[in-house]
Amino acid sequence: QKAVWAQMKDEASVTSDGKQVELAANIGTPEDVESVLNNGGEGIGLYRTEFLYMGKSELPTEDEQYDAYKSVLEKMGDKPVVVRTLDIGGDKELSYLDLPKEMNPFLGFRAIRFCLENESIFRTQLRALLRASVYGNLKIMFPMIATLEEFRQAKEILLDEKNNLSNEGVAVSDQIEVGIMVEIPSTAVTAKQFAKEVDFFSIGTNDLIQYTMAADRMNEQVSYLYQPYHPAILNLVHNVIEAAHGEGKWVGMCGEMAGDPIAIPILLGLGLDEFSMSATSILQARTQLRQLSKEDMQSHKETLLSMGTADEVVAFVKEIT
Ligand code: PEP
Ligand code: MG
Repeated sequence: QKAVWAQMKDEASVTSDGKQVELAANIGTPEDVESVLNNGGEGIGLYRTEFLYMGKSELPTEDEQYDAYKSVLEKMGDKPVVVRTLDIGGDKELSYLDLPKEMNPFLGFRAIRFCLENESIFRTQLRALLRASVYGNLKIMFPMIATLEEFRQAKEILLDEKNNLSNEGVAVSDQIEVGIMVEIPSTAVTAKQFAKEVDFFSIGTNDLIQYTMAADRMNEQVSYLYQPYHPAILNLVHNVIEAAHGEGKWVGMCGEMAGDPIAIPILLGLGLDEFSMSATSILQARTQLRQLSKEDMQSHKETLLSMGTADEVVAFVKEIT
């Protein structure tokens, strides 16, 4: 099996009926890039930048961040690199910031909510990213976007820093796409409105599932409700993809679901453009993908979306693949 997967490293991510998708990887540090390339990753679909901020005693400086981003972009060459801005809060704490304890941290002051309130921290990260942008194919992504205003505000700050840098004579790429994570149901439901303003979506199913099913992703007792194949999730994913494609935008997925062999045929049929997973899952995913027909999977779309339970979805996928 492993030997078969290894042959897939330099093969195209193309289905049996000739449809191309992108198989990308999730990373946490610049050191992870090596494994992405060794496993035939076609891009970085999610660079979780919070590791730059965690496990230390103070905020990372602009230069420290610049070095990290530049290193990832350079190693990836012209392959796309989606960098997610700071997603702190929820289960990820920063000891040196002394944030108040919350009753419901996952529903609280985290990610973009924190960044828009702590603008100087946010601006430092954006400047580092913009300065690094000339070294590769950078795409910037905001996490935990719940409203259009949040996206507009974040983008405005980004454009403001871009302007500041150009006034300082610092080179910045003019090709940077700006997108959002879709991991909150309000955003998945109103994807059509967002699609007019963002350059891309990346669906964060780890959080989208917990918020849609109202089941804490860390709580064993309610883990039976944490159902990636629940028709509610599939319908939200479908809605996001339709909305994006209607505006000519692309959609990725960077939650665990994107590398799941049961989910891959479904997501292919729903039209997902980019699958971002742990680097070690890419070769297996490519092997599977090359045996699937996108047209076949598409023909089962309505059946899947109208099913009643996750179990029915799984049984059906097993039957048709
Ligand atoms: C997600 O929510 O699916 C995601 C990719 O982000 P994280 O797991 O870092 O919350
Ligand atoms: Mg998330």
